[in-house]
Amino acid sequence: MAEFDVIVIGGGPGGYVCAIRCAQLGLKTAVVEGRETLGGTCLNVGCIPSKALLHATHNLHEVHENFEKMGLMGAKVKVDWDKMQAYKQDVVNGNTKGIEFLFKKNKVTWLKGWGSIPAAGQVKVGDEVHTAKNIVIATGSEPASLPGVTVDEEVVVTSTGALSLKSVPKSLVVIGAGVIGLEMGSVYARLGAEVTVVEYLDAITPGMDAEVAKSFQKLLAKQGIKFVLGAAVQGTERTKKGAKVSYKLRKDESAHEIEADAVLVATGRKPYTAGLGLEALGVAMEPRGQVTIDSHFQTSVKGIYAIGDAVVGPMLAHKAEDEGMAVAEVLAGKHGHVNYDVIPGVIYTAPEVASVGKTEEQLKAEGRAYKVGKFPFMGNARAKAIFQADGFVKMLADKETDRVLGCYIIGPGAGDLIHEVCVAMEFGASAQDIALTCHAHPTYSEAVREAALACGDGAIHA
Ligand code: FAD
Repeated sequence: MAEFDVIVIGGGPGGYVCAIRCAQLGLKTAVVEGRETLGGTCLNVGCIPSKALLHATHNLHEVHENFEKMGLMGAKVKVDWDKMQAYKQDVVNGNTKGIEFLFKKNKVTWLKGWGSIPAAGQVKVGDEVHTAKNIVIATGSEPASLPGVTVDEEVVVTSTGALSLKSVPKSLVVIGAGVIGLEMGSVYARLGAEVTVVEYLDAITPGMDAEVAKSFQKLLAKQGIKFVLGAAVQGTERTKKGAKVSYKLRKDESAHEIEADAVLVATGRKPYTAGLGLEALGVAMEPRGQVTIDSHFQTSVKGIYAIGDAVVGPMLAHKAEDEGMAVAEVLAGKHGHVNYDVIPGVIYTAPEVASVGKTEEQLKAEGRAYKVGKFPFMGNARAKAIFQADGFVKMLADKETDRVLGCYIIGPGAGDLIHEVCVAMEFGASAQDIALTCHAHPTYSEAVREAALACGDGAIHA
């Protein structure tokens, strides 16, 4: 048994960042993690392995589609799937080991095993009960299930299985047109699979600015991904070939089936708090299973806090990290804060899609007067040089004050470009502030500036 100032349960991006910041602020800190490696969903079976496969297959696409255009001739490359998997695992291992190193460097204790909370101020790991002045729940999330669909992680898989399929399927059905489904769908489409995305709603990427979602769908369709929208999946059934997905079109209730070598169920994730003993403690929960917290991340039980995917809000690693840092500040007697109005979202397809702030639909619903500045990457020399001029930047600003309210980018490096707008929004900047900032030429970021110019007197290159 050991005594700590803080015990964090869960070593994902919420938990490990929280622990490091707690230690940096002078608190004696431990993290309980039941997996063999640190880093949670994100590093082990989420953000990092998916980005490794996206990177590898994007390069494959470049070789096949664009190399000859640039005078790079020669034999086409072949895919060695086992080697690609090994590369992905190396990337994961390097990152998870990195967190172990950071724990040692910052003197954070890793209590290996699955934790529970027998009482406020106590955390049980195996047979040992440790005490802590404060406990932070950072136990993350797990894939949501779908009625009638039995996941076996071989043929009918969640994102975890999809990251490690035994071979590249000839055909893949993705259930759900959210970020994870579209990223993994892109990976397999680039590897040559015939990919069909079946989505309940009438648009892809729910919650995204409608104009952006539409353009994005067109770009993915151009890459060969097929979409069946407005389709309610009824169930899956294993077949000789792989599996059959049955669905009903919502517009006319007509029944359909589609068969594929593999099926990816990507209908979202749900908070994971099993085995913690929260019910016995009387910790209040949200109707959708998240732990209820106040503005200081404290649960209904004093001294027990919660962050990340286990609480309400976008299920994103950087949101979990920000909450981890903020709760550490609170526990150290400082002022921790997360600005939920400025949390970027990125889809790492090619082109990338990035978003921050309000959508046009939200502004209309709020009755807020706004203006739109749009700039196509077709007017960006650098994007044209790399054959990625299909997308655009769309900036939304207050009609009266010119304050930036939101921004959407489909294009090269969108996931990095968006942060200029995030910083601007944090500082309460106007579109003109961005427009009057000198941007280096030739960079993709010039398109952001041009969209800001388009909120005022007009873009130059459009
Ligand atoms: P998690 O990362 O889920 O970590 C929770 C940890 O707690 C786990 O390691 C678990 O083993 C441990 N745990 C749970 N219960 C206990 C217990 N009782 N005792 C001990 N340990 C316990 N987000 C992005 O921002 N960008 C992306 O590109 C991105 N890509 C993704 C791709 C995929 C395929 C998936 C599945 C997710 C992706 N996400 C992405 C989402 C991101 O992974 C999560 O939002 C993030 O990991 C949440 O962090 P967390 O710390 O709250 O929880």
